[in-house]
Amino acid sequence: MSSKNIFENKVVIVTGAAAGMGEAIAIAFAEKNAKVVACDLNLADVEKVAEKIKKSGNECIAVPSNVTKEPDIDSLVKTTLKHYKKIDILINNAGILFPTKIEHISEKEWDSVINVNLKGVFLCSKAVLPVMKKNKYGRIINMSSSAGKNISTLGGAHYTASKAGVLGFTRHCAKEYAEYNITINAVCPGLIDTEMVRKNVTTERLDNYIKSFPIHRLGTPEEVASLVLFLASDEASYITGCSLDINGGDLMI
Ligand code: NAD
Repeated sequence: MSSKNIFENKVVIVTGAAAGMGEAIAIAFAEKNAKVVACDLNLADVEKVAEKIKKSGNECIAVPSNVTKEPDIDSLVKTTLKHYKKIDILINNAGILFPTKIEHISEKEWDSVINVNLKGVFLCSKAVLPVMKKNKYGRIINMSSSAGKNISTLGGAHYTASKAGVLGFTRHCAKEYAEYNITINAVCPGLIDTEMVRKNVTTERLDNYIKSFPIHRLGTPEEVASLVLFLASDEASYITGCSLDINGGDLMI
């Protein structure tokens, strides 16, 4: 990933780009000269990310979208094509987490977690795949979690179920679209230092988790961004349907 221009002329959509890992991923792609479409529910913050990218001399547009709403995603794709004419890379990163125990999860909360974390991945993939197929090129990277392979450290069963679902969807989608030169992979982070983690755990509990990790610290959003960029690069052209762990050795399976 050392070349500055590695993603020159590549157009990348990043969902959930207003904060945390999405923001780090959008910035990392822009630094490698990609044209970035930063999408989020939170318009004010995603616009700040786009401004930051543009100030550093790179290309970015901010598009407000809710990944659970098909009309929003259709219009995200239309806006992207209007500005940049194609879509090369999709990063399905938007996600939410609630730490609720099963018997206290309302039907509404269950649906919202599954809708953002799993249906959102489906809707965004469905919308970009025809564009990628026509162009005979595509990379999709889905944000799962170590929760998808084990159980969530902080989230409830709905979070674990949604992230396991992302892994199944990733494998299926990879097989269906491999013949069009489209690779589709998942990333499974452990505990990464973002708002999602900080707002759902006390500092004391977090310190105990950190002590138990073979690498005694949280991961950084930038470390996850590096892995995502690798999977989106030509260096990863024979990797598809795969899930890569990034967790400081917390989960070794
Ligand atoms: P975060 O809460 O810091 O950021 C998530 C972003 O997604 C926010 O900007 C939010 O506005 C946006 N978003 C939420 N719902 C949306 C919707 N319906 N449509 C569009 N945007 C929406 O979270 P993060 O820690 O950066 O997590 C990013 C992804 O990584 C999530 O999918 C999360 O589940 C996953 N993940 C996080 C960790 C971790 O330790 N932080 C670990 C494993 C996986």
